[in-house]
Amino acid sequence: MKKSDQTDQCPVCLSCGLKMAPGNGCLVSHIRHGDQYYERIKAGDKTDLFYGMTQKQRCNGCGVKKGQYHHMGCDNERCPKCRKQLFICECSLDAYLIGSTEYDFF
Ligand SMILES: [Zn+2]
Ligand SMILES: [Zn+2]
Ligand SMILES: [Zn+2]
Repeated sequence: MKKSDQTDQCPVCLSCGLKMAPGNGCLVSHIRHGDQYYERIKAGDKTDLFYGMTQKQRCNGCGVKKGQYHHMGCDNERCPKCRKQLFICECSLDAYLIGSTEYDFF
C-alpha cells in the first residue's frame, strides 16, 4: 500500500468512523446516560476545555474546528453530565447518537 496520502496516517474515530483529519468534525451529537440524552460540548464553546479557540485553530487533540464536536476520546472534551474531562470522568455512558441512530458504547 502507498503511504503518500497524509490522511492515511490520521487515526480514525472509533465512534463516528471519520478520520481525525483537520476539518472533519465528529458526527456524534448526543450521548446517553441511563434514560437521558446529553448534547455534547462543541470545540471552542465557553464550557469546552479548549475554550477561547479561534476560527483558525484546530483542536490539539483531535483536529476539529471551532463549533464542531470533538472526536470520541479527545482529551479536550468535557463530559456534558459531570463537566469533568470526559476521558477520565466516572459516568458510565451507555450509548451515543449519530443522526437519529443510537449505538452502544464499546
Ligand atoms: Zn468522531
Ligand atoms: Zn478535540
Ligand atoms: Zn461525566
